[in-house]
Order: sequence, then C-alpha cells, then structure tokens
Amino acid sequence: MTPRRAISPHDSGSHFDPEPGERSSQQLHWRTLRALLPLLWPYGRIDLRLRVAAAIIALIAAKAVTVYVPFLYKAAVDSLAPEASAALAAVAVPVALIIAYGVSRIMMIGLAQLRDGLFAEVGQNAVRVVAVRTFRHIHALSLRFHLDRRTGALNRVIERGTKGIEFLLRFTLFNILPTIIELILVCGILGWMFGIWYTAVTGLAMGLYIWFTFAVTEWRTAFRRQMNDRDADANTKAIDSLLNFETVKYFGNEEHEARRFDKSMIGYEAAAVKTTTSLAWLNTGQTVIFTAGLTAIMLMAGFGIARGTMTIGDFVLVNAFLIQLYQPLNLLGSVYREIKQSLIDMEAMFNLLDVAPEIADREAAPDLKVEGGEVAFDHVSFAYDAERGILHDVSFRVPAGNTLALVGPSGAGKSTISRLLFRFYEPVEGRILIDGQDIREVKQKSLRAAIGMVPQDTVLFNDTIRYNIRYGRPDATDEEVENAARLAQIADFIAKLPSGYDTMVGERGLKLSGGEKQRVAIARTILKNPPILLLDEATSALDSHTEKEIQAALRQVSHNRTTLIIAHRLSTVVEADEILVLEHGRIVERGRHGDLVARGGKYAAMWNRQREVDRVREQLEETLAHETEIEMSDSAPAGAVSEIDQTR
Ligand code: ATP
Repeated sequence: MTPRRAISPHDSGSHFDPEPGERSSQQLHWRTLRALLPLLWPYGRIDLRLRVAAAIIALIAAKAVTVYVPFLYKAAVDSLAPEASAALAAVAVPVALIIAYGVSRIMMIGLAQLRDGLFAEVGQNAVRVVAVRTFRHIHALSLRFHLDRRTGALNRVIERGTKGIEFLLRFTLFNILPTIIELILVCGILGWMFGIWYTAVTGLAMGLYIWFTFAVTEWRTAFRRQMNDRDADANTKAIDSLLNFETVKYFGNEEHEARRFDKSMIGYEAAAVKTTTSLAWLNTGQTVIFTAGLTAIMLMAGFGIARGTMTIGDFVLVNAFLIQLYQPLNLLGSVYREIKQSLIDMEAMFNLLDVAPEIADREAAPDLKVEGGEVAFDHVSFAYDAERGILHDVSFRVPAGNTLALVGPSGAGKSTISRLLFRFYEPVEGRILIDGQDIREVKQKSLRAAIGMVPQDTVLFNDTIRYNIRYGRPDATDEEVENAARLAQIADFIAKLPSGYDTMVGERGLKLSGGEKQRVAIARTILKNPPILLLDEATSALDSHTEKEIQAALRQVSHNRTTLIIAHRLSTVVEADEILVLEHGRIVERGRHGDLVARGGKYAAMWNRQREVDRVREQLEETLAHETEIEMSDSAPAGAVSEIDQTR
C-alpha cells in the first residue's frame, strides 16, 4: 500500500464549509447557538442543572449588589457632608455605610467568583461531551475523507471548536447578557432619579460606544484573520520542515528552509503590527466616547448641585454607576471578537459532525457470520475517481483456509483489492462475499473483526512494544502477548532490548526497523486471531535473513486461515493455492506457481527476473558477510571497526 498522506503545507484543510450560499452566516450562527442550548441544560444530569440554576441565582444577586453599591456610596458621601451634625450617632452612620459599602463590594466580586466556580463543571462537561462526540464521528468517517484531509487540521477543528463552546457558554451567559441588563437598569434608575436627560445622554454615549466597538472590531478582524493565517502557515512550514529533518540534511537545504520559514514569518509580522496598531485606535476611540459621556453626565450633575436639586452624594452616585459600567464595556470589543470567532470555530466543528460517513451500515444490518472464511470477488470493478478505472471485472474465490496471492507491477491495483475487502471503499460494480454474505449487507464492525491486516508500512503507536502488540486484543494477558511475539519471530529481538517489552517505539514506531515493525504487526494480528488474513508484503528490500524470518512468521499466522497475500517477492507465493497476476486492474494470468512458470507467460518472466535479482543479492550479502568476518578477525581496535562500518 502506498502511503498517500503527503504533507503539503498548502493544504490548510481546516474548513468544513457548507456549499457557498447554501446557508447565510446569520442562520448558521443561530443554528450554532441553538445547538448550545441542550449543553446548558444537560439531559439526565440533575447535578449540572442544579449548578446552572445556582449560577444564575448568583449572577442575579451579584447584579443586584452591583447596582446597589453606588447607593451606599452616595449615602456615605451625603452623611459626611459639612452640614451633617457632629453628634456620635452622626459619626456612626457614615462608618456603618462605608463598612456596608466595603462588604457589598466584596460580595459583588465574591458572587461573581461563586457563579464562575459553579458553572465551571457545566462548561467543561459540555466541552468533553462535544469533543468525544466529534472524535467518535471522525473515526466513523471513511478513509477517502481522511486521505483528503490533514490530521493536524482535523485536530485543530476539535480543539478550537470545543474551546469556542466553553467561551460562548460562559461569556454570553455571564458577560454580554448581564452587561446589557446592567446598562438598562442604570439608564432606568438615572431617569427615574434625575430625569429623562440623564437616560438620554447615558443611552446615547453607551449606544455610540457599543456601535463604535463593533464596527472597529469588524474592521480589525481582517487583520486578526491574516495574522492567524500567517501564523498557521508559518507553523505548517516549520512542522513540515522538521518532519522532513533527514531530507533537509540529505540535500543540505537548511538555508532554503530558514528562508521559507522567514517568508511566512514576515507575513505574520506585518499582520501582527496592524493588529496592535488598530487596537490602539479602538482603545483611544472607546476612551474618548466613554469619557465624553461621563463628563457630560458629571457636568449635568454639577449644575444640579449648583441649582440645589442634587446632593454631592448624587454626583458621586452618577459617577459610580458609569465607572462601574466601564469595565464590562471595555471588554466588549474582545468579547465580541471572540464570540464571533467561537461561532465560526464551532460551525466548523458542527459542519464536520454533519459530514455523513461515505460507507455506512445498512439499517438493522446483521453481523457477519463467519464459518470457514471463504472470500469471493464477483465481477468487481472499482474507481477512486469516476474518470479513472482502477479494477476491471475482477473475479476470484478463495476457499476457506486457502491462500491466494496477488502479484503484479506497482500500481496494478493489488492494495486496492485489500481496501475493498476491508470495505474502506465500495465497488462500483460487482459484489464481494464472505461465506456467501455480501459485505455491504453486514455490520462493518463485524466484517473488520473477521479480517486481520498486516500492512506494508506498519505505523505504530508512540508507546511500548507491549502496548503495540496488545493492540490486537486489548484484554490479552502478558503471556499471550509474549507468545504472539514468539510466533511472530520477534521475541528474540525484544529480549535483547534493555527495556524489553517496555521499550518505547517512538513516534509512528520510527525507532524500529521496517522488518521489526512488520513483525510487531504480525504479532498483534496473531493476538487478534481472525479467520481471514490480508498480508501486504513490504516493498522495500529486506536482507534475506530478515525476509526468511518474516516469511516464517507469516506462515505461522496464515496457517489454517483464509489468506490473501499481496506479494512483491515471488518466493513468498510459491506455495499459494492460487496466484493472480494483475496488470492495469485486470487479471491477466491465474494458476498455481508450477503451472504459471510452465506456461512461460508474464508470471514466468517475472519469476525469472526475480530469481536473477535474488541470486545477485545473495552473492552480494555473502561477500559482505565474508568481508566483515575478515575485518573482525583482524585485531583492529573497537573504534577502528566502527569506523569501517560507518564508511561502508
Ligand atoms: P504497489 O505495489 O505499489 O503498492 P498496488 O498494485 O498495490 O501498488 P494500489 O495501491 O492498489 O496499487 O493502487 C492502484 C492505483 O490506484 C494506483 O494507480 C494509484 O495511484 C491509485 N490510487 C490508490 N489510492 C488512491 C486514492 N486514494 N485516490 C486516488 N487514486 C488512488
């Protein structure tokens, strides 16, 4: 199987947009917000619902205290005014009022913290539920979907989307809504206490402030987006470059890589500068509008005092109300931007959840019932893309317990046959049957449970050897794991490792050689113990010793199972019950090894060519082994031996 997950820095792949024009962004925002509601009132979680209710009570109490605090402030100021009497009782009143003011301020902050603490579990539960739902869904999507997208991009969609949920829940509920309520309350109270002009001026100033904030934030969003895009671009380039560390060294292209990275960073730099300078505009404008409103109101209150219609306390009250509003309003710009971004991120995630798996189980599909494990392809044709047919009218039958070998030039369609059997894709025409059951009609899970796959390029999990072998059957005991390793001819190798079965294999299993990885894959397939086996032989040449070991391991595992071998080395297929020679997706020859060689056709030509190659290779290996013996027997010091090794 040829790996096709090429790393292309150009493929950002992070958008899962619907058809353009299909839905307006407003509709999408509503849809997203509606999707949030059930998360706020989680089904079957009384504890979380109680928390939501308690958090809302804390929120209302905090707002009530917030609006009340300026009144205490005003009363304290008025009681301190020069005309107030100097009697003891008159001293006690302002002291009590000041203390009450202090306590109220603590309550205001304390209630807000209580609200956040109570709500934290609701928000985090929502994040977990949606993240796991999306993760499951991504695993349910088809191979075609995954080959078309980059894993990192998918991961980012989940990460950003779930963060967006948390942010939206917390900020719409506890920031935007309460601020709007407070604003309305303040305007109402000012109007009721001091007249309609106070409401009008406050309302106008705050309205202007909000409009300005939203407008400038919209304008700035473009710079932010540019900055994020450039950042993602620089990141992709850096990761791509580091993943290809060895290739960079092979070609001595460090300077080229640094220049490419710098080019992306220059873009980032420019966008970041614009983001910062536009923030300065936003902050300046906000301050001017707010302070103008505040000054106007304070001037009006000042005239009120001069006319004797207002007290000093009223002056302070008006000021306190407005100053208290400043803090949430000041955050409005970033909250607005973040909310918009959260909506976009969540939409990307919900769009991903909307992608239907290409291959889905039929409704009420039964499990596959395997008796012997007979596999049959019945006039199967297939194309990845409609324009280019890959398999044409392929038919064969592998009786239970038999071995079928698929041979042919690279690109002939051998691995495609294995992907079709695994139902990663569906045939365009024809049927695939296992013990007489069409694989389209049974549950995918039961189908895949019946097939063991040893791929050409085994990718391992970045964990221990034991974990990777046990992956074949997670409940296997240590003895079973070790027994499987023995059967797969890898136990001796593991025994020689300092940490044995607990050796970490590195990312993708890179610390093991190709042959070792493949034997780990064989061991885990032995543990899985499936009735049908698919073996995709490695194309890369292994030395004949490793090759023999792998073949012995394969013989072990395929004993008594229906086996399909995709073979690159014909020595593997000599004993197969049937060999299919595939060319351009068509079966051009079929039969047993002896018959095919005798026929003198394509297979015979391939066989002769390979024998010649094998003969040369064995000679070469013998010569090398012989030379090494001579070097070892020369009394060269250890350092010299390793030098010789390195120069070879
Ligand atoms: P090899 O021996 O090199 O592994 P193969 O015989 O197994 O080759 P396949 O992997 O089955 O060949 O590929 C058959 C053809 O299908 C190739 O031409 C390949 O380019 C094409 N192909 C494989 N996978 C895809 C895909 N996901 N999308 C489009 N074309 C594909």
